[in-house]
Amino acid sequence: MIIASNFKTNHNRVSTKEFVDFINSQHFFSEVRIYPPFTAFDDFDLTPNIRVGAQNFYPVEKGSFTGEIGFEQLQEFDIDTLLIGHSERRHILGESQESICEKYNFAKSKECEIVYCVGEPKEIREQGIESVMSYIWSQFDGIDIDYDDLVVAYEPVWAIGTGLSASLEDIQEVLDALRLKIKAPLLYGGSVKVETTKDILCIENCDGVLVGTASWDKNSFSKMIEIADNFKEQV
Ligand code: PEP
Repeated sequence: MIIASNFKTNHNRVSTKEFVDFINSQHFFSEVRIYPPFTAFDDFDLTPNIRVGAQNFYPVEKGSFTGEIGFEQLQEFDIDTLLIGHSERRHILGESQESICEKYNFAKSKECEIVYCVGEPKEIREQGIESVMSYIWSQFDGIDIDYDDLVVAYEPVWAIGTGLSASLEDIQEVLDALRLKIKAPLLYGGSVKVETTKDILCIENCDGVLVGTASWDKNSFSKMIEIADNFKEQV
């Protein structure tokens, strides 16, 4: 199971260190990922199943790209897991499929783990599963789905940060369809809470969760990881 926390634009350097140290002291079996803001990167002393990654980056080693963060800057903090295609970057920050592909190919060339996010907006969901899947497959245009270090996160746009999670049936339907072509671990994201984690992890083809809001509290995030650990022992 993979349990990932996306801090988005939350936490500072001190609170991130506290959070990471707390999670790191818990001894979990699950694979844990934490994506803090760039300014909170630090020299973390992590156990191997816990990794800190970047929410974004500019696909260059280094160069003249004012305001951006290149790979050389990430390497300074041993960052080797990256979020790509998050809906807030696609829909709020206007990232095109073309620039997402550039990032994907760059991350792949650096052999980083890629957590690749896909998901439909509300108006597409309202048209039914066929439209949902054709929208989601279009988000794989130019993406090598056979990349070894890929994790796919299904995150419906209307469920992110809204408190409205997709139903278990909706999640299962999409994950089942993705599983027909994709071997990589499949996560669900979209208003996951401590109370909903177990049911979501019980979905066949669900290999974990990517969590925003409910993960920003270290105790809640640690409970989610504990649920994943217990779940693993039961199956
Ligand atoms: C996310 O940002 O990936 C996310 C799923 O956010 P939230 O849990 O707040 O919906």
